Amino acid sequence: MTTTTAITTTATAPAATVTRLRTAFATGRTRPTAWRKAQLRSLRDLLTTHRAEFAAALHADLGKNGTEAHLTETGFVVNEIDHTLRHLGRWLRPRRVPVPVSLAPARARTVREPLGTVLIISPWNYPVMLALAPLVGALAAGNCAVIKPSELAPATSALLADLLPRALDPEAVAVVEGGVPETTDLLEQPFDHIFYTGNGTVGRVVMAAAARRLTPVTLELGGKSPAVVEPGADLRAAARRIAWGKFMNAGQSCTAPDYVLAIGDTAPALERHLTTAIQEMFGTDPAASADYGRVVNDRHFDRLLTLLDRDGDGGARLVTGGEHDRTTRYLAPTVLADVDPDAPVMREEIFGPILPIVRVPDLDAAIAFITARDKPLALYGFTASRHAKHRLTTETSSGALAFGVPNAHLTVPGLPFGGVGESGLGRYHGAHSIDTFSHTKAVLDKPLLLDPLRAVYPPYTPTKARL
Ligand code: NAD
Repeated sequence: MTTTTAITTTATAPAATVTRLRTAFATGRTRPTAWRKAQLRSLRDLLTTHRAEFAAALHADLGKNGTEAHLTETGFVVNEIDHTLRHLGRWLRPRRVPVPVSLAPARARTVREPLGTVLIISPWNYPVMLALAPLVGALAAGNCAVIKPSELAPATSALLADLLPRALDPEAVAVVEGGVPETTDLLEQPFDHIFYTGNGTVGRVVMAAAARRLTPVTLELGGKSPAVVEPGADLRAAARRIAWGKFMNAGQSCTAPDYVLAIGDTAPALERHLTTAIQEMFGTDPAASADYGRVVNDRHFDRLLTLLDRDGDGGARLVTGGEHDRTTRYLAPTVLADVDPDAPVMREEIFGPILPIVRVPDLDAAIAFITARDKPLALYGFTASRHAKHRLTTETSSGALAFGVPNAHLTVPGLPFGGVGESGLGRYHGAHSIDTFSHTKAVLDKPLLLDPLRAVYPPYTPTKARL
């Protein structure tokens, strides 16, 4: 039996896989910092050595361009590993905590301990990054991990299942491929943490399954992330940034601007500049551009076309795009203007290359619009006004808030990444991943020699009651 088959499990064996990993964890093999660093270095080597294979798999699954695949998937994880290797020693160090005088003499500290065996369930849209960035945190924190890649990105799933066993400790890391039945089986198993990335409906299934064993969860979900554009902002630059963030990966990014709130009279200029930006990035025929991706499958393609059917949209106007081809699942970068806030395209996360522009009279209306809806994963502001920035910061809630650029906050290693409310629960990246995948244990050490605590032992006296 090859190493690959030894750790790539099938739907028939999730229980055996989890038992094997739990047994390995109990031996303590994952605890030494040297083991953790060795795993991270091996993962880094694998990503760089097999960069072309990852690019090919991502192209097969999503039509992803090779440069984009490197920037947003393999390269992203390499950067996460480098940042983690650089700081891990410091992050893992016990922290001294002051002890109240009443307890002296004593020493208190917090100690990080790995949780055990964790389950990472990942989606199809960034199928490398969203499987491996959590894995970096899980390994750095000293855990065993089962990875369940998305069945909707089958080439990447197969590649992960093939390559990871060659790079990582097979007793500590396993890949379980499959869809709903396999994930359901996995969710029956005893895990010490479940890290799920995907939609909120399945997020609820995961959380309900976790509740049966009181297993802690991280839910990295999505939602409609608005881009607020104010008069006074450089509209040409804003349109370029919005187009880049939106149409990357054919709009299938959890942090992509979902819609634009165009304040005052900004909409006409934005429409023009967005059209120009799309042409600059993907040419006049994006179907022929090697840099433009495809919709992941027929179900999502049909869903997006339904959103594009503007009969129910109160007369939304097509600014650019709309062309499509079901055989290749191509949907052109599309901008809709004068969109009714109640139109179907405004009711659910779009998760595809359709950008509606909704006009609002002022910042008050924009803030009211945002706060009346679910808390988004990200909120983007394009404004030259410090006052507007302050108001967006203090009067709205979102997983992240970024001014002037969408998606890029993910690449700041010190920033936590995660949602709030409907957009998720918990956070990760860098040191925040160590928080997620560790238990921070309180340790108090009080010598037995002296015993000032006698002052509070029963029998209680009036003097003790006054302490
Ligand atoms: P998906 O369909 O690949 O599902 C995600 C995972 O859940 C897969 O591994 C799948 O096998 C599993 N799954 C699906 N149905 C299940 C069920 N009934 N029971 C148990 N497991 C099940 O991906 P998706 O949900 O379509 O992903 C897109 C969504 O994810 C969007 O809402 C997007 O915003 C969100 N997302 C969030 C982030 C983030 O980091 N916050 C990143 C990417 C995507």
